[in-house]
Order: sequence, then C-alpha cells, then structure tokens
Amino acid sequence: MPESKRIVVVTGGSRGIGRAVCLRFARDDARIIFVHYDPDDLKANETLELLDKMGAEAQAEKLDVSSFEAVEEFFREVVREFGRVDVLVNNAGITRDTLLMRMSAEQWDEVLTVNLRSVFNCTKAVMRSMIKERGGRIINISSLVGQIGNSGQANYAASKAGILGFTKSVAKELATRDITVNAVAPGFIDTEMTEKLPAKAKEAFLAQIPMGRIGRPDEVAEAVYWLASEGATYITGQVIHVNGGLYM
Ligand code: NAP
Repeated sequence: MPESKRIVVVTGGSRGIGRAVCLRFARDDARIIFVHYDPDDLKANETLELLDKMGAEAQAEKLDVSSFEAVEEFFREVVREFGRVDVLVNNAGITRDTLLMRMSAEQWDEVLTVNLRSVFNCTKAVMRSMIKERGGRIINISSLVGQIGNSGQANYAASKAGILGFTKSVAKELATRDITVNAVAPGFIDTEMTEKLPAKAKEAFLAQIPMGRIGRPDEVAEAVYWLASEGATYITGQVIHVNGGLYM
C-alpha cells in the first residue's frame, strides 16, 4: 500500500529550527523522518518524544549529511520503505566562527561541507524520486548572513550564500516537474547556535533588529511549512526572510 501521509524529511531535526520544523509538519497528518549526527541521542530523543505526544508518526536516523554515500544510502532506504519523499528540508548546519586571519583550511572545509555540500548531497539523492512522482518541495535553510556577510563568519556566510545560488539554479532545473525549490533565510533566532555567541555580539545584533527581539524557531518553521503548503504551488527559486526586519 502506498503511504498516504506526506513524507517529510528534515535534516538537523534534533533541536533548534529543525525541531520546530518537525513539530510544525507533525500538526498535519505527515510522516516525519529527521536526521541528526551527534552521537549523544538526548536531543533527538526529546524531539521524538514531543512528536510522539502529538501523535505523529516519526523516526530519527543518525546520518552525517556531509557524506555523499551515506546520504544516498539513507534516501534509498526511505524511498524503499515509504515509496517517495514529498518534502525535503535541508536545515542541518554548523558554525566555526573566527576571523579569516585565523581561520584554518579545516574550519573552512568543515563548514562548507556540512552546510553546503550536504544540500547538494540530499537534493541529488531525493530528486530522482521527486521527478518520478512529478512533484515535491525542497526548502533550504540559508541565513541573513549569506546576504549581508558577517565579520568572523566568512566560511558560514560563503556556505549560506552558496545555498542561495544552488536553490535558484535547481529551482530552474526542476520547475517543469512541479518540484519547487526555495530558501528560508532566518535572521537572529534563539537556538543553541546563537546561544554560544558572545554577549556583546548578541547585543549588537539585537540593537539592529527593528522588531527589537530575537526570533523563535517556530517563527522560521511557519515559513518553511508554508513553502511546502498548497498555498505555495507557484513559488520557486525564492528566498523568504524571517528576521524581524533586520534585513529588507
Ligand atoms: P542548532 O540548534 O545548532 O542545530 C543544528 C542541527 O544540525 C542539529 O540538529 C544538528 O544535529 C544538525 N547537524 C549538525 N551537523 C550535522 C551533520 N553533519 N549531519 C547531520 N546533522 C547535523 O542550529 P539552528 O540554530 O537550529 O540552525 C538550523 C539551521 O538554521 C542551520 O542551517 C543554521 O545555519 C540556520 N540558521 C540559524 C540561525 C539562528 O539564528 N539560529 C540563523 C540563520 C540560519 P546533531 O547535533 O544531533 O548533530
């Protein structure tokens, strides 16, 4: 029997924005499959518990999204089990912040591989199934920093700007197959990623936000969800900013 629920795959669903995205889709009758990589399962289990409380059908897999082979194998399994993937949210991301003067080649490569190559890996692995189904939604999580840059984040900004170029190119390639490819660019959102920023950097960001507050992960999740909804069938290659007016 083909699965009747929407099959939604979210990378980096163990916490932060990815968790909020899983919870948002779980309010529908969707089957949620999220991946994470940290060997400590605590956060992933917390997400699973929250999804379970909502009555959602969900599962978590440990997967390094930067590995082309592992990602291919993972999606092969998902398609074998559920027949297709309806929605892919490329959300997993890391930071290794430091000024370019001090940035090592390893710090550059790590961020580019986890943040950008992963989007290539997952999109490539899922596109054949979406083309066969003649439909699908791909939503890539970029960042405000990919558009305006940020001191100490040359690697991160390059990865997030790369996601935008990738999104627009693949949107053009897949448009005739009714597969939409869009990006969401969050501003300054309250997650573990921003928790570790120095207090001064946080204050400086906050001072620039017209809405005067940090964003919540669920506010980003709403934009992601909407891009995968019936309301967004004719929207592709776009970037939706969720930033309280920090960048217009
Ligand atoms: P977060 O709380 O640090 O969560 C990052 C997620 O990515 C975790 O679930 C983590 O899973 C997963 N991940 C990291 N490396 C991975 C790998 N190699 N393979 C698979 N999963 C991996 O970050 P967040 O703030 O929610 O950010 C989510 C996305 O939004 C990122 O792409 C980030 O760049 C972007 N973003 C965030 C902000 C912000 O202000 N927070 C702003 C703009 C853009 P494990 O820990 O289990 O490995």
